[in-house]
Amino acid sequence: MTFQGKHLIAGDWVGSDETFSSQPVTGAPIAVSKGTSAQVDAAAEAAEAAFPAYAATTREERAAFLEAIADEIDARGDALTEIGTAETGLPAGRLEGERGRTTGQLRLFAAHIRDGAYLDRRHDEALPDRAPLPRPDLRMLQRPIGPVAVFGASNFPLAFSTAGGDTASALAAGCPVVVKGHEAHPGTAEIVAEAIHAAIEATGMPAGTFSMIHGGSHEVGGALVRHPLIKAVGFTGSLRGGKALYDLCAQRPEPIPFFGELGSINPMFLLPAAMSARAEEMAKGWAGSLTMGAGQFCTNPGALVLIEGAETEAFLAAAKEALEATAPQTMLTEGIADAYRAGAKTLSSQSGVQEVMTSSCDQRNAAPYLLRTTGSAWMENETLGHEVFGPLGIAIVVRDEDEMLAVAKSFAGQLTATLMMDEGDTALGQRLLPVLERMAGRVLANGFPTGVEVCDAMVHGGPYPASTNFGATSVGTMAIRRFLRPVCYQNLPEALLPQDLK
Ligand code: NAP
Repeated sequence: MTFQGKHLIAGDWVGSDETFSSQPVTGAPIAVSKGTSAQVDAAAEAAEAAFPAYAATTREERAAFLEAIADEIDARGDALTEIGTAETGLPAGRLEGERGRTTGQLRLFAAHIRDGAYLDRRHDEALPDRAPLPRPDLRMLQRPIGPVAVFGASNFPLAFSTAGGDTASALAAGCPVVVKGHEAHPGTAEIVAEAIHAAIEATGMPAGTFSMIHGGSHEVGGALVRHPLIKAVGFTGSLRGGKALYDLCAQRPEPIPFFGELGSINPMFLLPAAMSARAEEMAKGWAGSLTMGAGQFCTNPGALVLIEGAETEAFLAAAKEALEATAPQTMLTEGIADAYRAGAKTLSSQSGVQEVMTSSCDQRNAAPYLLRTTGSAWMENETLGHEVFGPLGIAIVVRDEDEMLAVAKSFAGQLTATLMMDEGDTALGQRLLPVLERMAGRVLANGFPTGVEVCDAMVHGGPYPASTNFGATSVGTMAIRRFLRPVCYQNLPEALLPQDLK
């Protein structure tokens, strides 16, 4: 497929008068049509027009559609890897793995809706003879909410973008989707949009079920979340961008839910018995997790909490050695690389922060940073808890177990929190767990949070600012709940009941 730089609106490839330039890591800049509010309007109108027919499809029909999208993506595998590596600098192996995850998610949602348990069907039968009042017949079913807007994420060009988890779960629920492509990977977005379009044609779904509009300015994102026909938003990105879009959703005449995943530093608590047994081994593992994918993972373990002493010094020395051996890696965009450097500089210059290891990175490259502070300096300065997207770690060295608990209580909402512990740490683990449960969507023991399993029990969300909606997850089958709404049918004749209640 030749790159067109166009938007896909309800089955038609549409250009714009103006273009913006996307800068791949390798190759010349490419010109991409700049999205407009009028194009957002056309896509939202088409999505609304498609909604009644798409929402009325059977679960089997939607499952076959999701599987067809996965097959069409597989068929374009080589082209996706080629353009994806050029656009993002991510290695081919990572993109191939991410593609498998993306098609796996689509197939998982197909199986999930075939099973039908997600509908949460309930029935309270009529009790006509009940005194003093009879009970009507009451049936409940989860129904799709309407057109959904999805923002492609810079750091996952496949699994959190055009046909990523937000799109897969919305389509599975029965909601048409309008994607705003991320300008870091317009070519990848276009190929995936083409795959979805081919699946729409092959399975006879309404054309407006899916549209993709390239950005180029904040106009597209703003118009999309403000559009009265859009009923929910899925987003992964920065705290600043996400909060701005969240506020726009809340300010609408009809406010809508904004499912944003905004930022997390995923603290790890290293408990004393585990530290006595294997400080250096954990340090090497942590350095690998911190630098994986140039640290551009929302689950990157950027904060460590350790108790002062010889083991902590051994841990930090081993971590420094492992990080020093890591070569600089290319970041997804120049903007992200600039933000990384600026964030590292801000954190290093805070009072009470020491540089264990400094790095120099240029242009689009990122080398790791390791900073160190004390529990009291950490708790006095909330800037130290801000996410620096990239391979930057901060070690918070506390005086004792009580201060570890106090530091734990001071964290803002997180996607994950990890306990590194051995049997001798059980009592401290029991004190920490209630704090970590309130802080994070996923609590781990003796592992690293990078690598998010796509499955039924996964929670990829958490209290603000990890996500804007702590009751939801953006990974795993529970993600479908974001795009469903319970409807109760009271005394409806059989002929009127939705297919899934008959
Ligand atoms: P971003 O700047 O938040 O942008 C994400 C999307 O939101 C883009 O499509 C962007 O479109 C749109 N957008 C942002 N602000 C907007 C506004 N005020 N009005 C309308 N649309 C808006 O995120 P990014 O480009 O992916 O990366 C920048 C930074 O985000 C990174 O340095 C990192 O800090 C953070 N990030 C975090 C995670 C995570 O998982 N925690 C993941 C990715 C990125 P336009 O720019 O085209 O308007």
